[in-house]
Amino acid sequence: MSHPVASIWAATAHPAPETPPIAGAHTADVAVIGAGVTGLGAAIKLAEGGASVIVLDSGGPGFGASGRNGGQVIPGLKHDPDELDKLYGAAATEFAGKTADVVFALIEKYGIDCAATRGGWIQGTLKTSHLPMLERRVAQWKAHGADVEMLDAAGIRRLTGTGRYVGGWIDRRAGTLHPLNYSYGLARAALSLGAQVHGGSEVASLKRSNGRWLLVTANGARIDAGHVVIGTNGYTGRLWPKLKGTVIPASSFQIATAPLSEEQLQRILPGSVAISDTRRIANYMRIGPGNRLMLGGRGTFSEPKELADYRRMVADLKAFFPETAGTPLDYYWSGRVAMTWDHMPRLHRPAPDMTIALGYNGRGVALGTAMGQAIGAHILDPQTPLPLTFRTIRPLPVHDLHPIYASMAIEYYRLRDSLEK
Ligand SMILES: Cc1cc2nc3c(=O)[nH]c(=O)nc-3n(C[C@H](O)[C@H](O)[C@H](O)COP(=O)(O)OP(=O)(O)OC[C@H]3O[C@@H](n4cnc5c(N)ncnc54)[C@H](O)[C@@H]3O)c2cc1C
Repeated sequence: MSHPVASIWAATAHPAPETPPIAGAHTADVAVIGAGVTGLGAAIKLAEGGASVIVLDSGGPGFGASGRNGGQVIPGLKHDPDELDKLYGAAATEFAGKTADVVFALIEKYGIDCAATRGGWIQGTLKTSHLPMLERRVAQWKAHGADVEMLDAAGIRRLTGTGRYVGGWIDRRAGTLHPLNYSYGLARAALSLGAQVHGGSEVASLKRSNGRWLLVTANGARIDAGHVVIGTNGYTGRLWPKLKGTVIPASSFQIATAPLSEEQLQRILPGSVAISDTRRIANYMRIGPGNRLMLGGRGTFSEPKELADYRRMVADLKAFFPETAGTPLDYYWSGRVAMTWDHMPRLHRPAPDMTIALGYNGRGVALGTAMGQAIGAHILDPQTPLPLTFRTIRPLPVHDLHPIYASMAIEYYRLRDSLEK
């Protein structure tokens, strides 16, 4: 197998919607930078409300993490409900609990063909010391009416086919989808509502003039917009001052096996359940297109250059499912996530009529979609509250050294993971 290979998603996607590069001069109520789930989620809500919208992406719909991820649609934020209530208020908790609902409702509303299933998500644990935390998590979500349940070691083995977990919980609000087809479907929905969506359209400059925004793309197109939404997450560049420095763009790696045998499929993650675990540097797994077993996790901080860069994922796969040792691997790929120091996403309004959302810490399929929708609703009617408050843009100290520090941090977290019981 040569490298790089396409992701399993690129290899199995429907044809992409037509999103030609933008050219010439345009005017819109809102310009959206980034055609991932955040940008497209916002664009759909805005176009539904009658706003004229232009979405611009350097690549195209789903070019970033939105088209490369594990397709696990998981509700929630880092904190459990009681802590969320305390730190961010009841509305933030309510929002966090409903993010997966937002995704599945959009899929239904726009008939998005993206292999969506709602088989639940299991958060397993390899550490008995983490079980009390999971029990609290389950009790608190149950108190909010969520369909969640603790699993003991035998229960989790039955549902996943691996004996590594000592317990865990299942969240039946969650599910899986084909992320690139989901991104394409969101783009088609936005187009069907009259929005313009343009790939190959990197926004090179952004200036405020006479109470409007002027965006100029790398190929010279000019867009005059009343409001700008930035949803560039792990692909954030130097377009807006200091924004890039607020997040650490980390690579998330994935591998997918050749199709599993019927016999393997009956044991390994039957019932299209998705799973990850409670370690600081966790693995996530699911069955993907063609009945392939997929595993993902945190890779190196730089982009992978060769297959050897994926060796940790291969070892992780064998540790969970030794019986796949002889199963060839068909796909290896990666994408960029945006990490924040407190694992919470960021909303910024550094200038009038500008909304920025990023920093989903590798959990943005549901969160980014719901955040985009909430931003769209708020722009249409500023009385509609956002789920989190705006924060000042504060770059992380010594950001440019992040690959070194972050790699050290990852190894430190791995060590702590390995020392915990
Ligand atoms: C390998 C991997 C696995 C993951 N697995 C999961 C998972 O299973 N579940 C989950 O919830 N989350 C997962 N995530 C995280 C999730 O994919 C992201 O949080 C989410 O997709 C972020 O969406 P977004 O729209 O904010 O950003 P992105 O989808 O990253 O999109 C940003 C876009 O901005 C564009 N852009 C940047 N700068 C410019 C510019 N100047 N002009 C124009 N366009 C620009 C880029 O081209 C890009 O398309 C995973 C991520 C990766 C990489």
